[in-house]
Amino acid sequence: MRKNIVAGNWKMNKTLQEGTALARDLQTALHGKTLQCEVVICTPFIHLTSVAGVIAGSKVQLGAQNCADHVSGAYTGEVSAAMVASTGAQYVILGHSERRAYYGETNAILKEKVKLALENNLTPIFCIGEVLGEREAGTHFEIVKSQIEEALFGLPEDDFHKIVLAYEPVWAIGTGKTATPAQAQEMHAFIRRTIIDKYGDGIANDTSILYGGSANADNAKELFSNPDVDGGLIGGASLSVEKFLPIVEAF
Ligand code: PEP
Repeated sequence: MRKNIVAGNWKMNKTLQEGTALARDLQTALHGKTLQCEVVICTPFIHLTSVAGVIAGSKVQLGAQNCADHVSGAYTGEVSAAMVASTGAQYVILGHSERRAYYGETNAILKEKVKLALENNLTPIFCIGEVLGEREAGTHFEIVKSQIEEALFGLPEDDFHKIVLAYEPVWAIGTGKTATPAQAQEMHAFIRRTIIDKYGDGIANDTSILYGGSANADNAKELFSNPDVDGGLIGGASLSVEKFLPIVEAF
């Protein structure tokens, strides 16, 4: 059975002190609650070890926002999948549209990152999604399909089974413009059919597909009520407990 997941993407926000305080406040707020979803926070690299200490034994899980496409060596400034895993993180966001747009991450590079993440027992939260021009041109389905095919469809069944997908229409990220629940459901169902065609019903039905793009306390319930929307990847609204908690509780 697939899991419901609400994952926060802190992006390049919060000092170490602010980040550890937010993690502490979140785990305190969730303490004693019965949740219908897993809760993950994806912090900047430098926060990982400290936040892992803060949330140890709590309901909150930890992820990074990226990892290198090489195992180790002379890659100044990079952080490997093994390093991320060694902090205690269980997840890593890969292929976020900001990484694709600003840092030239292609599906070929992402394929390597996914492989290394899996080799280090990290669960990739793999982001896919079209830009506004592609939606307006009606090519959004084929764009999303090619992102999945090129980066993920080389994986054996056992490995694909470990992937979490996040559909994030780029025009909805940080813009306050959310996809309608119908648009989200339509694309999520298309993604699941694409997985069925490659890996069959069993794996497709087990794959969690999250929605990302200006999700918030007001729209989360309606988005999550769709049969193929298994949670959210949350940017801006993950930066305070006040905004994040109602999204977690929308399940
Ligand atoms: C994101 O960056 O993954 C995201 C969904 O951001 P926001 O919620 O701010 O649109």
